[in-house]
Amino acid sequence: MQKNIKIKVALAGNPNSGKSTIFNSLTGSNQHVGNYPGITVEKKEGSKSYKGYDINFVDLPGMYSLSAFSDDEAVARDFLIKEKPDIVIDTIDTTNLERNLYLFTQLTELSVPIIMVLNMVDILRSQGKVINKKAMSDLLGVPVITTVASRKIGIDDILDSIVSLFENKKLKNQIRAKVDFGDVIKEQTDKLEDLISKNPTLSIFPERWLAIEFLDNGLSILELISETNNESEILTQLKKSKEHIKEHFGEKADKEIVDRRYGFAKSIVKTVVKKTGQDKVDITGIIDSFVLNKYLGIPIFILVMYVIFKFTTFADPMANLFGLLFKWIGGVVVSLLPICPVRSLIVDGIIGGVGGVLGFFPMMLFMFFAIAFFEDSGYMARAAFVMDKVMSRFGLHGKSFLPLMLSTNGCAVTGILSTRTLDSKRDRLITMFIAPFMICGAKLTVFTLIIDTFFHAKYKTDIMVVMYFLSIAIALGIAKLLSSTVLKGDAAYFVIELPPYHIPTIKGLLLKMWERGTLYVRKAGTTIVFASILIWVIFAYPKAPINENLSKNEQVALQAQYSFAGRAGKILEPFFKPIGMDGNRAVALIAGFAAKEVIVSTLGTIYAIEDGSGENLPLKEKIANDKDWSALKGITFLIFCLIYIPCVVSVIVFFKETGSSYKWLALLVIGSTASAWIVSFIVFQIGTLLKY
Ligand code: GDP
Ligand code: MG
Repeated sequence: MQKNIKIKVALAGNPNSGKSTIFNSLTGSNQHVGNYPGITVEKKEGSKSYKGYDINFVDLPGMYSLSAFSDDEAVARDFLIKEKPDIVIDTIDTTNLERNLYLFTQLTELSVPIIMVLNMVDILRSQGKVINKKAMSDLLGVPVITTVASRKIGIDDILDSIVSLFENKKLKNQIRAKVDFGDVIKEQTDKLEDLISKNPTLSIFPERWLAIEFLDNGLSILELISETNNESEILTQLKKSKEHIKEHFGEKADKEIVDRRYGFAKSIVKTVVKKTGQDKVDITGIIDSFVLNKYLGIPIFILVMYVIFKFTTFADPMANLFGLLFKWIGGVVVSLLPICPVRSLIVDGIIGGVGGVLGFFPMMLFMFFAIAFFEDSGYMARAAFVMDKVMSRFGLHGKSFLPLMLSTNGCAVTGILSTRTLDSKRDRLITMFIAPFMICGAKLTVFTLIIDTFFHAKYKTDIMVVMYFLSIAIALGIAKLLSSTVLKGDAAYFVIELPPYHIPTIKGLLLKMWERGTLYVRKAGTTIVFASILIWVIFAYPKAPINENLSKNEQVALQAQYSFAGRAGKILEPFFKPIGMDGNRAVALIAGFAAKEVIVSTLGTIYAIEDGSGENLPLKEKIANDKDWSALKGITFLIFCLIYIPCVVSVIVFFKETGSSYKWLALLVIGSTASAWIVSFIVFQIGTLLKY
């Protein structure tokens, strides 16, 4: 019996080649998402039982090369080299064959069996081209399968091919065509390979691949061998080899290796792709002539952004339903439990806090769905292209706008994580740094509350728009500042592939929406519950002594002053006075470090306790009735909210993604809070002078 033999399969390929679509069809619902140890890059795994085998699939992050220019690429590369899957499936966007084959030329240098999947042949056909997969397979010496993943065509062929390749005894000796780097380079790689195989640290890597990586500067040898004593010999040889190659090819020594790979890819394309002569209309070309147009590009981009935001408003009814649901759950708990601290903890603390957060969940799902639609259709790549000119003025990269977009009304955590698609460390750092300054879904609650309270219905939208622009201006300003000081240098040269347009599949969109959305909920599940409980405790304890002479309301007010929060507010008041805030707001802002929506719930708790009148006025009326607030103070409060320390989850994710840099952590935490105070101070003092 061959039951339960496991086969480890990794899916590799360029971004947008259809990897995830294939992965989803292969594994169905049988998948789970985890993290690679130590880093926040997501690891998607799934399995499938087939012909008596348990096939385990890993959907690797997309990559253009194994040289690891981005963290995603590094993760994928390390997985292939260290975990040594039984089989690697190289997913190829056949409409971009040459570019996609570049990765293949590197994969062949690793010692793993490869199955090549030529995906998107439907689009190729509509471009009037066909591919000869038999010729391809003969030329490259690997099994070749054609698929239309979005319509599940060819998926079973992949499974069959996995099993037959696995059962084939010659698995390890699969013959593969390799790039010929020419005698000059080969002579040097031979020497290096020899030394690599003798070095205990380096010999875990495929020798030929590593030798070329070193010559190509794709991998720093110093990072790998710092602990071995054999290093001097290899380093000397590497230096000699590089000099030798340079002598031969002049300045373009590095380029020679890349060119050889592309040359190989080109010749394959020439041989296997044939025109059928039935050229259909080039839809992608036509759409691009509008979307990438010098004059129309930006207006179309703005229109798309508008559509995305408009689409999110459709979530309102669902959000209301969520609100009702939590109210109902609170009611049920109240009717079940007697008055006691536990009941108060559950209703006011947990349900109140978590409900507030989940209230935004529908809106985020809608937004993530809309963004996924434009991503999967291929538009977002164009948007990055169009936006590059604008972004580069602020030292950013065209691709930086998507993380910022995901942060706006969404969540900075998703934004920070999505910077992984940026190739250069510098561009990534700047983008991660500014993502938390966007008005995320959580901050939106605070903004809505304050603007609702102090401004006439007529101006509300305008004020909100001004706030959005302000947040963008602040973020771009910081980007400019960073890129002209600590992170001097130019944004990475703009290389972005423009994939052909697709009609996205609903399933793909829903999955993407769900993955990003649940990231937010996981935050609600852990941090927010914890923060809600903590906040409830600091307001409810220590208990003020019961004084028989006081009315119930006075007793409640006394409790508020007596509590930890009340005392902290008193102590902090002097720092917040110059920016027009009292102790209560100080406490709310501090609580906001847990999560920005907690600012609203904290204000709610404070006013509920202080008010104590039993009248259940909406929070905004309570605030409006409070003499210690004013429109100016409201605006100052919002500006402070916009700039001061990001929420704890963002800060933690930022810290991890910067490679645990304390320097950047300090700059973000201290820099933002100090600037928030300074800007608020200026706004408040000038406003007061002008008698607003
Ligand atoms: P990944 O980045 O490699 O994981 O790519 P995805 O699986 O997310 O696919 C990118 C886009 O291409 C999605 O919109 C898919 O629906 C679409 N797609 C995937 N395979 C095919 C295909 O064979 N034909 C067409 N027309 N579209 C496809
Ligand atoms: Mg994917």
